[in-house]
Amino acid sequence: MKKKSKFIKLLIYLVTTILIMYIFIINIANADTVSKKMLFNKKCKTPELYDRKLELEKLSPRRSLTRDEKIDKGYITTGGVIKQQQIGDVESFWIIDGADWVTVDAKLSAINEHAYIYVQEQDRLGNKVLFDSASNQGYITQLDINNIANRFFNTGFSDNIYETTRETFGVEPPAGLDDDTRVTILLLDIDSDYANYIESGYEWWNNAWIAGYYFSADTFTDNDIYPPYHSNERKIIYIDTYPSFEHGYFDIQNGNEIYNFNPEPTIDHSNDIDTDDITMPEGPEAAYSLLSHEFQHMIHYYKDNDEEVWLDEGCSGLSEFINDNVHPFAVDFFIDDPTDSLVDWGYDIADYGNSYLFMLYLYEHFGGAAAIQNLVAESANGTASVTQMLLAMNE
Ligand SMILES: [Zn+2]
Repeated sequence: MKKKSKFIKLLIYLVTTILIMYIFIINIANADTVSKKMLFNKKCKTPELYDRKLELEKLSPRRSLTRDEKIDKGYITTGGVIKQQQIGDVESFWIIDGADWVTVDAKLSAINEHAYIYVQEQDRLGNKVLFDSASNQGYITQLDINNIANRFFNTGFSDNIYETTRETFGVEPPAGLDDDTRVTILLLDIDSDYANYIESGYEWWNNAWIAGYYFSADTFTDNDIYPPYHSNERKIIYIDTYPSFEHGYFDIQNGNEIYNFNPEPTIDHSNDIDTDDITMPEGPEAAYSLLSHEFQHMIHYYKDNDEEVWLDEGCSGLSEFINDNVHPFAVDFFIDDPTDSLVDWGYDIADYGNSYLFMLYLYEHFGGAAAIQNLVAESANGTASVTQMLLAMNE
């Protein structure tokens, strides 16, 4: 059965939060009124969160304290003692699920030199996520987990995401508030109700979901964060498993592209969606570009925490390319909308393609990784940051 485009990935940056949302859109021009309205509503959620983040930044009273000052005042209590984490440990994490901030439990399923991989055992609706051989349920297998751990960091691979991203953009914080140097990769079903969206009869192209995020509040103590937000107080990246690990395919029926959603979790990741212009991996490979994208945000936030969105997102797009050697599909949307502003961030998919191409241009013409590292670390923001970087590179 022929599988067909078109995936649209919308990546949203919220000052302190980076969310990636995938949206299926087949043809907006032909979408009916209800569909357009629903899509619009989806986008309307963004400014609300954006404002709350600004509020959080403004009100958080202790965020300007240094780490040592926080330890002195008792806000950070680890005292330099790193909690020993072992395979099989179950931890509770704060996550966003729809509009709610909730806790979920996840099991530590892999450890290597630079990463922990925690996997949610079951989603909030009770569906198994981590494969459980006793019940033969769940869809994230140990093989998936090992593949992700190895792709992110394995001393046997010179091109792992951890090293490649650091070599291009700079280093992430040496440790989290828990004093641990490793990056936690939390695999979970972020939008636990996604399957119900489908079953309740939503038009499939309106179904967006959060496919992963980096949340800079995790660099603050939980006491520094105002409700409803919370901090996990560690170096952490969140990767969605469902439907990001792929549970469907495109097909042509009567000349129309139809997305066939398979609500049953599958552990067969052998079929990729190959399209004319967009490649959407499934299985653990779905996590690789997300890790490349979000890890850059972790680095960028550490180097320059008030950088403009377009510049930061362009760098995350570049990280996807450097790690996967595939242009982010958002380029196609910029080609269709070439008058889109580079610096006026509008949360349009074209914005991601536009900013990515600009970063690729800087990377290829003005000094490669040295230029990009300079740009990321530059304290000036936006176009001023680019100017300073070019002066520093003597261009
Ligand atoms: Zn992003």
